[in-house]
Amino acid sequence: MPDFIFNAGHLALDLVNTEQVAEGVPVDLLDSPAALLEWLRQSGAVAPSDMKAAEKAFLRDKAASGLLLQQARSLRSALRHMAEAISGGRPVSAQILAAINAVLRQSPRVLEIMRQKGGYALQWRPQNADGEALLAPVAEAAARLLAEGDHSRVRKCANPTCVLYVYDTTRSRTRHWCSMQSCGNRAKAARFYGKHHGR
Ligand SMILES: [Zn+2]
Repeated sequence: MPDFIFNAGHLALDLVNTEQVAEGVPVDLLDSPAALLEWLRQSGAVAPSDMKAAEKAFLRDKAASGLLLQQARSLRSALRHMAEAISGGRPVSAQILAAINAVLRQSPRVLEIMRQKGGYALQWRPQNADGEALLAPVAEAAARLLAEGDHSRVRKCANPTCVLYVYDTTRSRTRHWCSMQSCGNRAKAARFYGKHHGR
C-alpha cells in the first residue's frame, strides 16, 4: 500500500495530492481499487461501519470496484482543475461544477445524530454504502471549499517541480510548501548551498 499523506489542510486537496511527481516521474497513489478504499479509510471521511460494508461489497465485485476507482480519478482530475483555477484567481468551469454535482447527485445521504465521545455529532450517512456514495464526502468538501472557503488560501507547493496543493490554514498565510520535510527542506538546503558557494 502506498504511503498516503493527509496534510493538504483540506480533504478535497488531499485527494488531488494522491497524484504526485517523484523525481520527474508522475506517480498515481490510487493505483488500484484496494488503494482507493485504503485512502478513503485513512481519510476518515467515511464512517467506519460504512467503510466496512463497502470493503466487503467491493472486494467481491471487480467491475464495481474498477468503476469506483475510475469515478474517483475523474473527480480527482476535476478537483485538480478546480485547485488550479482558484489558486490562480480564476473562476472554475461549468464542467468542474458538473463533475462535483454528479458525485453529489448519485450519492443520496441522510443526516443522522450519533453519540460521540463527550457528546453528540451530526453526520451524513450514505443511504447505500456503494458506488459513488463513498466519494460524496470528498465532493462535498470541494463544494464547500468553492462556496464557503477562502480561495486565496489555496495554492500550489512553491517547489516548481512539485504538483501538490495546500489549503494554507496558518494565521500568517505563510505556508508555501506541501511539507517542510520534503519540498520545504529541499528549498532550505538549496538556499544554504547558494549562500556557501557564492550563488
Ligand atoms: Zn511540494
